[in-house]
Amino acid sequence: MGNIAILDELTINQIAAGEVIDRPMNVVKELVENSIDAEATKIIVEVKNGGKKLIKIVDNGKGIPGEDLDIAIERHSTSKIRNINDLEKIYTMGFRGEALASIAAISRLTITSKTDDEDLATSMVSQGGTIISKDEVGGSRGTTISVENLFYNTPVRYKFLKQDSTESRYIREWVEKAALANTNVSFKLIIDGKTQFQSSGNGSLQDIIYTLYGKEIAENLIEVDFEEEKIKVTGYIGNTRIAKDSRKNQILFLNGRNIQNATLTASSDQAFKGSTGIGKYGFYILNLEMPATYYDINVHPTKMEVRFKEEDMIFKVFYHAIKNAILSEQFLGNTENEMDHTEYIENELEFVTNKLEKQEEDYNLIERKEKRHIDYKYIGIIFKTYIVVEIDGEIYLIDQHAAHERILYEQIKENYKNNLTNNTQMTLIPEVVNLTHKEMEFVENNMDIFNNLGFEIESFGENSLKIFGIPDLEYKTKTNTIFMDTLDEVMTEERTSIKDIEERFIATVACKAAVKAHMDLTKEEVDFLIQNLLNLNHPYTCPHGRPTTIKISKDQLKREIS
Ligand code: ADP
Ligand code: MG
Repeated sequence: MGNIAILDELTINQIAAGEVIDRPMNVVKELVENSIDAEATKIIVEVKNGGKKLIKIVDNGKGIPGEDLDIAIERHSTSKIRNINDLEKIYTMGFRGEALASIAAISRLTITSKTDDEDLATSMVSQGGTIISKDEVGGSRGTTISVENLFYNTPVRYKFLKQDSTESRYIREWVEKAALANTNVSFKLIIDGKTQFQSSGNGSLQDIIYTLYGKEIAENLIEVDFEEEKIKVTGYIGNTRIAKDSRKNQILFLNGRNIQNATLTASSDQAFKGSTGIGKYGFYILNLEMPATYYDINVHPTKMEVRFKEEDMIFKVFYHAIKNAILSEQFLGNTENEMDHTEYIENELEFVTNKLEKQEEDYNLIERKEKRHIDYKYIGIIFKTYIVVEIDGEIYLIDQHAAHERILYEQIKENYKNNLTNNTQMTLIPEVVNLTHKEMEFVENNMDIFNNLGFEIESFGENSLKIFGIPDLEYKTKTNTIFMDTLDEVMTEERTSIKDIEERFIATVACKAAVKAHMDLTKEEVDFLIQNLLNLNHPYTCPHGRPTTIKISKDQLKREIS
């Protein structure tokens, strides 16, 4: 007898749910997007226990007719498109008709809705996709959807959820973005009974930025209002004062949809270059409006990714939009202000157009601070651990490991943030390491970070890795154990935000690559450490906060001794 069978409807929906619904935040996203599509002007989001127990969305949109409720939770049911050609002119958030069916399949779902044409609302309850009741009830125009016991019948998925506070944070971050993208809609977010924020829906982006980010940010914004090639870019960029250490505050919307896109990120990096300071990222919240024919949003079910048909054009327009704002007088700390505006733009344009050929040169354009030479008198190394030198009437005891760690940390971080591609030193003979299944999975999930740090690795058989290169650093322990040590260390602690993970990676590589205590250093190595350490902005602590150096002045010594 054959062994192949067509899956039943519930199983199909549960599998499909896995693609769209990873975590409670995705449910919030899908439901709020439905409310926006329904032209709601007021949306209340309420969650309990990180959304695991309850997610409730109340909107005042156009509603779902009572007779359509059953079909709304079927797969591929949508009121938004009728065939594939409609995708070319789609401006709604949803169109796959998958969300409600997916959510219904993995929860207890209650939908109560009323349209303008109906006298009464209809309330329908389903459990695991099966309708268990449907009644007429009182109620006003709009839709209320409650999702209870999410993932109750997909225990594996449930197990992968983070603690409630983390899931709540994901939800909050998403709803904040929705509020930023939809300034005409009033949002209210309630988490475990407490109102987190409320936006007015008065159409002012600046007001919402103030509500979410506070005064300091709101006061350092420059408006962007730019149009070229039928692409409109509006919103705000931050001036130098509020440039940040991470990309977290670079928020992009495409026709109201929050997206991530490498071309746009590269374009904004280029535009901010030289204006934010090394290792800093410009703040921006920008919305791009363009004809739907310019891009394909149907790349991934969560629709965060987008493919542009003419990437170069998008790159240029976005670049100009930001550069224009940077060149405006409000952008503090910008030295190019005096240059003639159009002339500057033209120069820049040429630069951008040739950006591909110039990538090599680009590397050299990254500003590096002029190093000053430190004059010191070398006394020696004590306990094989501390370098002792005299500088300007003070004695410095420098912990050789901590100092080296600090230097490497800055170096790796700079390479990492500037996305340098040539930060790898290739090993003579590639080394193969065997990993556990769990380690392998971790490496695969964090491949980008490993690569950005300078590791060149490739899977080699099921649980083996081939190491071709390691971060190109001036370290002494030049060995491939650097990879295993790093892996061990970064895997031990659970971290959530990508920034924490990156920080940890960087600090670990620095620590593992640094010279150890009890290692003999040559005079040149000592000089390297001192020159590099004392040129740093924060030379006196290692990345973990331990001191690298102790300073003792002559006066101090005198006091101690006499
Ligand atoms: P999609 O959004 O891709 O069309 P969904 O499964 O999310 O698919 O929703 C199915 C349909 O249910 C929508 O096309 C819409 O007609 C209706 N719907 C869902 N939520 C709402 C809402 N909050 N208000 C009005 N209609 C809704
Ligand atoms: Mg939808």
